[in-house]
Amino acid sequence: MSTARGLETSALTSWGRTLRAPQLVFAPSWRDELPGALRAAVAARPGHGVLPMGLRRSYGDSGLNPEGAVLLTPALDRTIAFDPATRLLRAEAGLSLAALLAWIVPRGFFLPVTPGTRHVTLGGAVANDVHGKNHHGAGTFGRWVRALGLLRSDGTALELRPGDPLLAATIGGLGLTGLVTWVELELLPIASSVMQVEDEVFEDLDGFFRLAEASAGWDYTVAWVDCLAKGAALGRGIFSRGRHAAAGGLRAVEPPGLLRMPMDAPGFALNRLTLGAFNALYLAMGRRRSGRVRQVPYLPFFYPLDGIAQWNRLYGRRGFFQYQSVVPPAAQREATRAMLTAIAQAGEGSFLAVLKTFGPLPSPGLLSFPMEGTTLALDFANRGAPTLALLARLDAIVREAGGRLYPAKDGRMPAAMFRAGYPAWEGFQEHMDPHFSSAFWRRVAQP
Ligand SMILES: Cc1cc2nc3c(=O)[nH]c(=O)nc-3n(C[C@H](O)[C@H](O)[C@H](O)COP(=O)(O)OP(=O)(O)OC[C@H]3O[C@@H](n4cnc5c(N)ncnc54)[C@H](O)[C@@H]3O)c2cc1C
Repeated sequence: MSTARGLETSALTSWGRTLRAPQLVFAPSWRDELPGALRAAVAARPGHGVLPMGLRRSYGDSGLNPEGAVLLTPALDRTIAFDPATRLLRAEAGLSLAALLAWIVPRGFFLPVTPGTRHVTLGGAVANDVHGKNHHGAGTFGRWVRALGLLRSDGTALELRPGDPLLAATIGGLGLTGLVTWVELELLPIASSVMQVEDEVFEDLDGFFRLAEASAGWDYTVAWVDCLAKGAALGRGIFSRGRHAAAGGLRAVEPPGLLRMPMDAPGFALNRLTLGAFNALYLAMGRRRSGRVRQVPYLPFFYPLDGIAQWNRLYGRRGFFQYQSVVPPAAQREATRAMLTAIAQAGEGSFLAVLKTFGPLPSPGLLSFPMEGTTLALDFANRGAPTLALLARLDAIVREAGGRLYPAKDGRMPAAMFRAGYPAWEGFQEHMDPHFSSAFWRRVAQP
């Protein structure tokens, strides 16, 4: 891919693979090439503008710019400075969390916040203000950003710090305020790369809320929920809590024998039967180890899906939607119950259905997704109209509860749903770079 002229391709899809469209791709390797690449990208696609692109782990269309230009960042992956005394690390925005962890874990540091895959860039983590299993204690990724470099399409290079309104727009700003060139992040000190983990089975949704309340003292909490369970068993699952162990060494090892999905799975592979069998087995496994504290390496604890490369091909060629919502505390029990009922009735949903409570720490971005309450995330194979109808039913529940959906996981929410969930969206527009755009933004802001 060239820096000067770009390469037209439809090969760059996002993680859910539902949208395939041509984009003009620029892939600069050095920071001093960025202003030229940005100028060339803007000039080449005046109507559709440009969008930064990281490792494409966003699910829908927020990281895509069909017919427009994209600036691929993963070659900008160098560390710039690190001071162990202040724990401040400065690195280029295309550096992946995987590469960063491999460097910092042996030195006794960890990411302050990490999403469920480590194959994301620093720039992507900022632009979606990502959250992790420690949201109740640590808040979002953006809370740990101490400074960043932002390149605007007019060639201005800015250094932004907390308190600057443009930083509040850039954190969670979906890549629309300019190109983040570097990020300065405060790291977390750790004594060991081993995690102390305890799993506990809960038999219904009330059981989940009881465990979430009782686990506030654990650094990391998350639950898997059986999305097919109905009636008295609705909302049953496995609650998992963890903390960094005090001993056990500092190792940043890759898991042995990475598995790979060799091809797209056929459409029938994921159905009510296979899902039911998986959920029953998984629950039985959880019951066997329920209540026992185990020591596990950090990789499988934080990134269980990273062990299978390209697992998104499991959903077949038509791809899949992820649906991640958050609903505020006052409505969380009823809304979560109503969503799980609708999903179980439809017999849809994924192997990995995740439930977690977000804590009260405010998110720093104008368009950050996390807010206090309960978040539910599931994948749905793209079966066309029936899938879209189910997701519309879930929209109505989330909206009624005063909740919102996560743009990083979205590929279809109606404009009205976005605007209701993100009332700051209009003010955000003042901070947008006039030449930056995305398919998502065109969908929700200019319907
Ligand atoms: C298995 C899996 C688990 C996940 N778990 C979580 C989770 O637990 N919590 C969570 O919050 N998210 C989670 N995600 C979503 C993921 O963390 C986000 O979508 C993340 O932003 C992806 O980063 P990326 O580098 O792949 O960026 P992309 O997906 O390529 O881009 C994401 C956004 O960042 C913008 N962007 C990228 N680089 C820059 C830059 N240099 N400057 C400005 N903007 C930029 C893009 O324009 C786009 O809007 C998960 C995703 C997967 C696949």
